Amino acid sequence: MRNYLISIILMIFLIPLSAAAKPKNIILLIGDGMGEAEIALTRAYEFDGDAGLYVDTMKNRGSVIVKQLMVDDPSKIEFVGESASGGTTISTGNRTSSGRVAVKAEDGSPYKTILEEAQEKGFKTGLVTTAIITDATPATFAAHAQNRYCFMSSSRGCQQFGDTPIVEQMLDHNVDVMLGGGTNLLPANAAGGGTVKEKAESLGYKVVTKREELLDLSAGTKTFGVFSNGHMPVEWVGPGGRGADFIRVNDNRVVMFPEPAACEINPAHADMPRLEEMSKFALDSLYSDEGEGFFLMIEGASIDKQAHVARPCGTIGEMLAFDRTVKMAVDYAKKHGDTAVIVTADHGQATQVIFKPEAYVGPLRRDHIPGLYQLLLTKGGNELGAYYGTNNINDQAHTGVNVPIYTYGLDNPEPLTGIIQQTEIYGVMKDYLFN
Ligand SMILES: [Zn+2]
Repeated sequence: MRNYLISIILMIFLIPLSAAAKPKNIILLIGDGMGEAEIALTRAYEFDGDAGLYVDTMKNRGSVIVKQLMVDDPSKIEFVGESASGGTTISTGNRTSSGRVAVKAEDGSPYKTILEEAQEKGFKTGLVTTAIITDATPATFAAHAQNRYCFMSSSRGCQQFGDTPIVEQMLDHNVDVMLGGGTNLLPANAAGGGTVKEKAESLGYKVVTKREELLDLSAGTKTFGVFSNGHMPVEWVGPGGRGADFIRVNDNRVVMFPEPAACEINPAHADMPRLEEMSKFALDSLYSDEGEGFFLMIEGASIDKQAHVARPCGTIGEMLAFDRTVKMAVDYAKKHGDTAVIVTADHGQATQVIFKPEAYVGPLRRDHIPGLYQLLLTKGGNELGAYYGTNNINDQAHTGVNVPIYTYGLDNPEPLTGIIQQTEIYGVMKDYLFN
């Protein structure tokens, strides 16, 4: 009887203790510039339009309205987003203007980010990207700057507002794992003397620059890994290395389409760690079955960057790498429990899937197709046209489309279904982690 009473008393005290100690984790995946058009292009190329992407299997999904404040007059709205303002909206719940990193549009004062709040509460944190590690999306979680291009002390972007270089802010934040591009950051001067590399090492970071070094590290190592000069090379390139281009119309008003051809592997990517390799290292490093859990942001950066330069195969290869990483994150959440996976984009991009543009015949004749076009041959042998018409030079503009959001593992996925504002994601993450 006495033993029975003791065990009842133990159960009353121990059960709530063990329940409270269970760590909670968020894996936030941001496909930069991943609008529905970039997803549709990828689905068409790889699966001939069947729902073959992993994200296609995610049942809890919504549609995110993207907008930002105008740089010159933040009381006015721009109906197109950008990575610094979009990252800020996701990381802090506040809209800001283009180029601003977790600061208020009106006066540049900092907004506290979800990563900073998680750190204060004892969570581990990580940032993984295929861009330079100081790029806008990761920066909006662990830095504050009025000019997103203030990467390091030598960046001209630092002069405009006197921002502290983003790389130094990110290191000072003690994010447990940071992986991406940016070997060019290492020799830059750091504020306290010495280089950025020396600063990272003095803060206890293991600095790695090669894929093999990363794969050899034991999980849990506090790591600053940068694997390329600037942004990482992308996985795929177009046929013969080419992107979309102007198409010729002959004297008989016939459009001279190139032969459809398949995407190719980019040899420059061969030595790079893949997004899922970097993400796996981060997950293994941040995971613990005790303590407070972790917040990890993973960015597929060049879905956007390749659309800017009208390279549909570049976008498709990066989108597939991102999608594989989403699957890995959900598999992780299924295995470990108490992990929410949130997948979204910061803004839409310029990609359009159109079939074959026609030259106009009639009184308003034009002798050219205005945008850039590439005809691809899908895996299933079908012709797939990708078109970029937001600019006729090689820097396409973001577009004001809604972007998708997919979730797995939230206690209540409802607030992130249907049509939502981008500002709402932050509150859901905060509720999940801290309440
Ligand atoms: Zn962009």
